[in-house]
This record gives sequence, structure tokens and C-alpha cells, in this order.
Amino acid sequence: MKTALVTGSARGIGRAICEELARSGVATQIVVCDVQKDWCGETVAALRAIEGVKAESLALDVSKEESVVAGVAEAARLFGSLDVVVNNAGVTRDGLLVRMSEADWDTVLDINLKGAFLVTREAGKLMMRARSGAIVNIASVVGLMGNAGQANYSASKGGLIALTKTTARELGGRGVRVNAVAPGFINSKMTEVLPDAVKQQMLSIIPLKKFGEVQDIAKAVAFLASDAASYVTGQVLSVNGGMLMP
Ligand code: NAD
Repeated sequence: MKTALVTGSARGIGRAICEELARSGVATQIVVCDVQKDWCGETVAALRAIEGVKAESLALDVSKEESVVAGVAEAARLFGSLDVVVNNAGVTRDGLLVRMSEADWDTVLDINLKGAFLVTREAGKLMMRARSGAIVNIASVVGLMGNAGQANYSASKGGLIALTKTTARELGGRGVRVNAVAPGFINSKMTEVLPDAVKQQMLSIIPLKKFGEVQDIAKAVAFLASDAASYVTGQVLSVNGGMLMP
């Protein structure tokens, strides 16, 4: 039985990833994490409703080193191993570069990029010792193509893609695979706040003529985390309706 930890999984894509990993049997012991433990209740309840699945939750703020060190150790202790880690926690603080505050830059980089580094460092040590493991990082199409108004966010996701490739090179010899999924425009709390004009403009450049659903990302993550992808590492899987064909 495999254990998975998914950061930022109280809601949205993270929650869908937990449910897909569990339903597909890729990992049947799930550690749900978010900034506060009490935000994780709905995800845990949904997981426990699936037959044969165990779920626990813990507070893990990916931007704080002490929280990550303690949280990853606790996650491994809860079920006795850590086989799959998904770096999903992410935020936006959009604005044009010339008006962007240092605080908005730092917040996004601390959570989206430093957070993945800290979690990967801690989980990577355990996985290297076990000589097996799969890490999946949730990047973004804008980390590949850039996006006006998202200097901080696109830099964090571009950095996450580079981190994915470097980690894949460093950990591959110990049987640990590291990949990224780069979602396009996905219906979620993160995107529902965008103005209609922006949504229409996005739709016009998506060949499939619709936005993605959280399950589309979860299925790609479950594949990369599974043994079906045992010869896949250092890759970026784009799930974007054809919006960008790198
Ligand atoms: P969301 O805002 O619904 O969920 C993000 C989760 O991360 C929340 O539960 C939040 O509490 C958690 N989080 C925030 N700061 C945290 C921290 N410091 N430590 C731990 N958890 C923290 O957003 P979502 O759409 O579900 O996004 C999930 C991931 O997918 C993010 O990395 C996002 O950048 C990425 N993504 C989303 C889209 C999209 O269109 N929705 C597109 C590309 C990439």
C-alpha cells in the first residue's frame, strides 16, 4: 500500500488529486495537508468514503521551513512510508511588473517555488533512502509561455519546471522519479475571480474551446505518480486543451 502527501489539498486541484490517487489505487493512504489542519476536513471525509482508503490530515505551510520539516516527518510516521509527493500548493498575486510590490513577489515565490524546494528536500531524503518514490510538481502553462500581469507567478512556475528537471537528475539514480504537470486554464477558485474579458480571451486561444476541470489535472498526476510511468522522469506534461504546444 502506497502513501501520498499532497500539499494545499484542502480544496481545488489538490483535493481532486487526492481523490484520484485514492480511487485509482495509485496510493491508498493519503496525507491531506494545508496551511491549517481544520481546512482539510472535507477532503479527508471524501477520501474515507472510498473503500479501502485511509486518510489523515496535518497543518503544513510550505513556505515555512520548520513546518515542512515537521510535516513531512509526521506524514511518513502516520502510515510508515512516503511513496508519492505532489507539490500542489500555490497562490497568485497578479499585477503589472512595474507596479508589483516586493511583498507580492516574495509571497508567490516563497509558496510556489521555495515551498516545493523544501518539501522535495525533506521527502527526497526519505525516498532516496527507500530507493523509490515519485514526486509530481504542479507548474503552469504560464511557466512555459509567460503571461502579462503574472511576473511573480510565471517566474515561480518556470523555476518549478527547472527544479523538476534538476531534481530528476539528482534523484534518478536512487529510483526516485520527478515530473511536472503544467495545467492551462482550469475551472477553480483560483480562476473564478478573473474578469469575463480575460476568460473570453483565453477561450479564443484554446483549440478544445473550453476550460479544463480539476479532474483533468488529477488524472495526469495519477499517471505520473503510478508505476505506468516508471520510465518517465524530468518531464513536463501539459494539460491545457492545446493552448500551448511547446
Ligand atoms: P486553490 O487556490 O483552489 O488551491 C490552492 C491551495 O493551496 C489552497 O487550499 C490553499 O490553502 C493552499 N495553500 C496556499 N498557501 C499555502 C501554503 N503556504 N502552504 C500550504 N498550502 C497553501 O487553487 P488551485 O486552482 O486548486 O491550484 C492548485 C495548483 O494548481 C497551484 O499550484 C496553482 O498554481 C496550479 N495551477 C492552477 C491553475 C488553474 O487554472 N486553477 C492553472 C495552472 C496551475
